[in-house]
Order: sequence, then C-alpha cells, then structure tokens
Amino acid sequence: MRSVLKIQRSHKKCWTCNKELGTLLHALWDCPLIMPFWKAVLKKFEDWLSQPLPESTQFCLLGDKSLLPEGIPKVNDRLMMTGFLIAARITLRKWKSPQTGN
Ligand SMILES: [Zn+2]
Repeated sequence: MRSVLKIQRSHKKCWTCNKELGTLLHALWDCPLIMPFWKAVLKKFEDWLSQPLPESTQFCLLGDKSLLPEGIPKVNDRLMMTGFLIAARITLRKWKSPQTGN
C-alpha cells in the first residue's frame, strides 16, 4: 500500500523538472525549464515587431489583446497569437519528455 502511494505521489510532479506539482499552468508557463523557451518565443516576436511585449500568461496563453502595444497591425497580431498557440502546443507535446520545448 505504501509503495502505491509513493507511485501516485511521484506522478503528480512535473515530468520535466521533477520538482514542482505538475499542473497545466506549471507545464505551460511556470516550469523553470519551460521559461527559456517562452522568452525565446517572445524575443522573436519583439524583434519582428520592433516593440517590447508583456511577458505574462494573460498575454501569451490567454491572448488578452488589451495588453498589446498600440500600433500593431491586426494581421501581425493574429500571426503572433497563432505563434503563441503553436508554442503552447509544442510545450505540452514535449512536456512528458525530459527535454524542454527548445
Ligand atoms: Zn516543472
């Protein structure tokens, strides 16, 4: 019985860092091994748009356009949001592997 409990407990940890509770938010954003991937994604979009972008779950994962800097054309906004969606899917696909989404 005790070994069963240990197995169940170990499955609740993040499969990537094996330190924190493996919640969806942790897998998508909070994991310290995932953050460099998101920073790289944001840097690509900032370079493309020549504007700083907010580093937040509200913007990158939920697509809150109220946080968008002014003056970004709608077509660029849609491409960026699609890029964030693809980045999130890549993150979750690679989450169970010991490597990050890099
Ligand atoms: Zn983690």
